Amino acid sequence: MDTDVSSVVVIGAGLAGAHAVECLRAEGYSGSLTLVGAESDPPYERPQLSKEFLKDQTEFGLVHDADWYAEHGVRLLTGVTATAVDAGSRTVTLDTGETLSYDALLITTGARPRVPAIPGVESARLLRTIADARRLKDALTSGARVALVGGGWIGLEVAAAARARDAEAVVLEMAPLPLGQVLGADLAAYLRDLHVGHGVDIRTGVTVEAIEPDGVVTSEGRVPADVVVLAVGAVPAAELAQEAGLEVDQRTGGVVVDSRLRTSDPHVYAAGDVALATHTTLGPLRVEHWDNAIRQGELAARSILGHDVAYDWMPYFYTDQFEFSMEYVGHSSPEDEVVVRGDRDGHEFIAYWLRATAQGTRLTAAMNVGIWDVNDRLRQLVGTIVDPDQLTDLR
Ligand SMILES: Cc1cc2nc3c(=O)[nH]c(=O)nc-3n(C[C@H](O)[C@H](O)[C@H](O)COP(=O)(O)OP(=O)(O)OC[C@H]3O[C@@H](n4cnc5c(N)ncnc54)[C@H](O)[C@@H]3O)c2cc1C
Repeated sequence: MDTDVSSVVVIGAGLAGAHAVECLRAEGYSGSLTLVGAESDPPYERPQLSKEFLKDQTEFGLVHDADWYAEHGVRLLTGVTATAVDAGSRTVTLDTGETLSYDALLITTGARPRVPAIPGVESARLLRTIADARRLKDALTSGARVALVGGGWIGLEVAAAARARDAEAVVLEMAPLPLGQVLGADLAAYLRDLHVGHGVDIRTGVTVEAIEPDGVVTSEGRVPADVVVLAVGAVPAAELAQEAGLEVDQRTGGVVVDSRLRTSDPHVYAAGDVALATHTTLGPLRVEHWDNAIRQGELAARSILGHDVAYDWMPYFYTDQFEFSMEYVGHSSPEDEVVVRGDRDGHEFIAYWLRATAQGTRLTAAMNVGIWDVNDRLRQLVGTIVDPDQLTDLR
């Protein structure tokens, strides 16, 4: 352990921050530890906000019980925003007026929904926090007309939750298929058809021109709506880092960190959605997924303690929408060939993403749908040369 570190401050009490403090204590760090969070709740499992919590669940899952922090000597500040970082004096200013000193600072401020410059956009709802989810849930009443601007993961999950609550759902997507770039045309069409079969109105090739209190004006006409939800991606919450003079990538907006999650300042680290991290084989990568936030939180903790660690795992994510429950591991590109093994119509199959290389056919990603306890095996296969004829649904 690096004995020079006796005070650690973590800004951002989300998934990455909560797992970082847990890992610091688990690794034996006994110095002062403060976790600063702008939200009023202790760190919670964000993915449930567009799934079970939005559908019917009344409770939401915390990363640790509320008592855990005090029990482990973590000073958790909720409802408190860090307003400035002074990298020279190694201090963080809070909106309470307090100043915190650090030997090591970890920035886990996450991301916030992208808000495009569309007339009337301020009347649309966003979904990032438990407070957003509570408000949205109240609006998803039987018969309510819900328009989702954007047919990405969150837009489609909210559409599924809306249908589960007997609301009408229309998805407005600019691309020819929702998630076509991620899933490939064939599987994206499968997912679209699944939604349509559950009564979701999916409109593709549509540009949103204005948002009004009772509808959306699109390139294909006006769509009446009681609730309009904006789900067109997220942007890193990197302002603090930028203002502190840390390197921030202009293209992705992410805080630039190396494979040990160190920023351009040797005392400052970043992890989770906010970080553009150098992957050991994939290069600079900014990943907005649950698993990445957890692993990077832990990696940053070990890195702070001087362990020899690196960002070297394949991205992983999951979703649940109607019968489409899946886990995806890897990093594919839209040019990769996709092959499916198993029962697609029964929603139990494995999709493999394949790329022709000089060495042979490389598996770039795999997705298990409705087949469980196989993702670790898929993780081992991803990145290797495979014989496509030998790929099965692993059952
Ligand atoms: C609705 C929704 C559904 C999702 N579903 C999935 C899914 O199914 N599968 C999946 O893999 N991923 C999913 N994700 C993504 C996943 O939740 C994120 O990748 C993950 O939460 C990122 O963790 P993080 O700790 O980096 O950031 P966050 O969890 O966003 O936490 C950052 C925290 O920092 C706080 N903060 C920011 N600035 C400051 C400041 N200056 N001072 C104090 N606090 C600050 C924020 O308020 C926030 O609480 C979903 C995300 C959303 C929004």
